[in-house]
Amino acid sequence: MSKEVKPESVSLNPLGTAAAPESELLCIYGTGDLGRSLGLRLLQSGYRVVYGSRRPHSCGPLPQGAQVMSHAAASQSAGLVFICIHREHYEFLEALAPQLKGKVLVDVSNNLKKNLYPEANAEYLQRLVPGAHVVKGFNTLSAWALQNGPTDANRQVYLCGNSAEAKQAVAEAATKLGFSVLDRGSLSAARELEDFPLQLFPEWRLPLRVAVGLTAFFFFYVLLRDVVYTYVYEGKDISFRIMVSLANKVFPIVSLIMLALCYLPGVIAAVLQLYRGTKYKRFPNWLDRWMLCRKQLGLLALGFAFLHVLYTLIIPIRYYVRFRIGASTISQIKENKTNEFDNTSAWRSDSYYSVGILGFAVYLLLGITSLPSVSNALSWREFSFVQSKLGYLTVFLCTLHTYLYGWNRFLKSYAYKWYTPPGYMLSLVLPSVVLVLKLLLMLPCVDRTLTRIRQGWERTDPEDDSKKSLLT
Ligand code: NAP
Repeated sequence: MSKEVKPESVSLNPLGTAAAPESELLCIYGTGDLGRSLGLRLLQSGYRVVYGSRRPHSCGPLPQGAQVMSHAAASQSAGLVFICIHREHYEFLEALAPQLKGKVLVDVSNNLKKNLYPEANAEYLQRLVPGAHVVKGFNTLSAWALQNGPTDANRQVYLCGNSAEAKQAVAEAATKLGFSVLDRGSLSAARELEDFPLQLFPEWRLPLRVAVGLTAFFFFYVLLRDVVYTYVYEGKDISFRIMVSLANKVFPIVSLIMLALCYLPGVIAAVLQLYRGTKYKRFPNWLDRWMLCRKQLGLLALGFAFLHVLYTLIIPIRYYVRFRIGASTISQIKENKTNEFDNTSAWRSDSYYSVGILGFAVYLLLGITSLPSVSNALSWREFSFVQSKLGYLTVFLCTLHTYLYGWNRFLKSYAYKWYTPPGYMLSLVLPSVVLVLKLLLMLPCVDRTLTRIRQGWERTDPEDDSKKSLLT
């Protein structure tokens, strides 16, 4: 390949002494947002920049020190050309194919939607200018990130292309701009790179759907049982409770269910392995998908728990609560009687709060250890200890907190309005199932078999054995 990109060239004067090194000239097609930001960054990093534009005389202010010319003239003396133009306008490049022959073209373009075109933008560019070496790259950075320099969230530049030398030239420029380069292979990976910026929290989608679904279901469930029921049977409008009381019922319910959903797939996987007697059979796809989003489920569950804590903290300053306490005190004074101190209630409420606080503390610890900067500092054993042992402890404490909240109301018929159980009782089903299954899996005889399976031991099927002996 005739690679025209040269590293910094050193020119010699007639006396043979070295002159100041001449900085490399790079070309940018397009004087829009990305072109300008990239040009500024390249100039700051010591490159010379020439712009190729449709309107070289009226393209507006450009970074100081950059030149601007027609497309053909601009790319003449540069070996590397950044195409900072939208794909829809690439056709004119076909006519420039002879001038661009042998040059490295960096395709930085993105699309508005996935699969908008039958081929990737970079492959299309390669088709238009077959004699050039197209490299896909820089498209995952924004103009803003380029202008401000690399930050933690925008440190990487992904590259792909068919020519190793062309990729090397682009990688050198990216490194000089302060970015770290990740080579994603040949130009056929361009579509994948073009889809990167279009992704919107892909691994959060399922957990978010679960969270929204559960919140909506329990909101209407609690609304019916509390507000509508009271209106129908007592004629009282207590709709003001929607804002705090209902929210503070729905959030812990959703939090507990989602926490249980983090640990349920692990338990199901263990039961499957025990049933199959091997770890070498793949889990069904739905279970794989479920397991992969446990971290997001857990973090969302922690978010709901956090809301529950905040809503609980404001209870004493609520108008309704202050009114009820005042009214009860006045009625005691009027009737000249004092409510007896109930030791059992005191135990119940203190245990309920204490277990809740402990549960939330361990919950927070779990959340913190799932942050990449913290988990990277832990060994695999430490990480699995925290996520598994402390995880089940969190499920246990939060479930106990909810059982203590219910106390003996489980047995009272008035709790079952319209023959439906209260929301918190429904929220106890999944975590209770998880804890019971986990306890069963911890039984020494079960645990021993499971450990052996996970170490590679396989239970042989007696039927298979008998078939084998018939064959031999
Ligand atoms: P822009 O601000 O609209 O600039 C595009 C430039 O393309 C124009 O300034 C113009 O430059 C040139 N152009 C427009 N119509 C043309 C035509 N018919 N023929 C030839 N040239 C034409 O767009 P941008 O935001 O800089 O984006 C440029 C490319 O970078 C796009 O492919 C985009 O997907 C990609 N990108 C942008 C960002 C970003 O943050 N903006 C991030 C990643 C990737 P002249 O007037 O000088 O010819």
